[in-house]
Amino acid sequence: MFAVWKQELVSAVVWFMVAAILSTFIGLFLPMCLLVVTGLWIRQVRFVNRLEAWLRRGATGKPPTANGIWEEIYYHLSRLKKREKKRKRELAYRIEQFRKSTEALPDAAVVLGLDDEIEWSNSAARQVFGLKKSDKGQRIPNLVRFPEFNQFLKSRDYSKQLVILSPVNHAMVLEIKVVTYGQGLRLLLAHDVTQLKKMERMRKDFVANVSHELRTPLTVLKGYLETLTDFENDLSPLFRTSFEQMWQQTDRMQHLVDDLLLLTRLETQQKKADCVDVGQLLIQICQEGEYLASVSQRIVLHLETDKKIKGNEQELRSAFTNLVVNALKYSAEETLVKVRWYDDAGKVCMSVEDKGEGIAAVDIPRVTERFYRVDVKRSRKLSGTGLGLAIVKHVLMRHEGQLKIDSELGQGSCFCCQFPAQRIC
Ligand code: ADP
Repeated sequence: MFAVWKQELVSAVVWFMVAAILSTFIGLFLPMCLLVVTGLWIRQVRFVNRLEAWLRRGATGKPPTANGIWEEIYYHLSRLKKREKKRKRELAYRIEQFRKSTEALPDAAVVLGLDDEIEWSNSAARQVFGLKKSDKGQRIPNLVRFPEFNQFLKSRDYSKQLVILSPVNHAMVLEIKVVTYGQGLRLLLAHDVTQLKKMERMRKDFVANVSHELRTPLTVLKGYLETLTDFENDLSPLFRTSFEQMWQQTDRMQHLVDDLLLLTRLETQQKKADCVDVGQLLIQICQEGEYLASVSQRIVLHLETDKKIKGNEQELRSAFTNLVVNALKYSAEETLVKVRWYDDAGKVCMSVEDKGEGIAAVDIPRVTERFYRVDVKRSRKLSGTGLGLAIVKHVLMRHEGQLKIDSELGQGSCFCCQFPAQRIC
């Protein structure tokens, strides 16, 4: 096909030729050429003018009629316009679908700007936070007035979730999560965890009540067993074995109940923080540990720092005692147990190291679970409840600490309690 610009060129050349032929009859070559140029120029201006008028009307309707290269230009412009319209329609449809789906979300979602101002919210958010559509642009801390919520937003550390009550319904518990995206934008998500929290509370209450109720019958049982001890020598060998078993099992049950009650206290009680002299505490624990295990000079204590930490002495005593007792329990009597209190890159650590049987890598992440005992047959021979490390983990959580476990089967273990710098007092 002949290119359009060439047609235009040919038509201009033809006009000039006509002018040249005419001028051979009537002369006036230059005015003739001027006439042709003016004619061609007027034609271009007319088309440009039509195009401008059409664009001014928003390029709606049919493009103006034209011929030559202008017909092509109009045609392409109108096609571009149509394509853009179609794309806009599709985009609007997608936005509408997205809006509908976010509106239907059961979780509350709020988009926050740089200054915590609301950029967008879905209907669940308006319900649980009591927001209105007109609150767009308002700062959310001015509408959800909980100090911990404001603190959470201000902290800019969104690795953890925050649990608060709904400002409009205090029976509803919300778990707040913040996700950052784009340039300074944040998506705040709130999930209703009322049922979950209720079940958790019921479980805690149940465990606490059962443990508490078991204490009285246990005390009675132990009392009678103690009385019977006086007659132990009169018992036949069969009864003596049964009697010893009764003692052991009652003792085990007593430990279980005590540990469960301690865990309940750790989960429910308010945190109290004094300045605890960990060095002094460890001296006492190591002495008691050796006394309880009826061994001497198995524990080597290294106090490499005299730093003290903010915390609850009773809770720390329970945690550290559990680690020391475990190290003594799960290693041979002729091996040493090393207890250290030292500085570690701004943090302070208390570690207990033994050369005992160690823990397999697969079991390490599970040993802090309640009632988890690595080798049940082996562990049964040694007294224990399977709650010791769960207590350690809880105590450390309440002290912003972390438990690090390094262990290798047959080589030994090292349990390290790390406390952050802000805990040092
Ligand atoms: P338990 O009352 O059984 O000692 P813990 O919660 O204290 O309960 O420990 C859980 C399990 O972790 C133990 O049963 C034991 O198998 C393992 N464990 C704990 N400490 C040590 C250790 N120092 N060396 C080897 N295994 C250990």
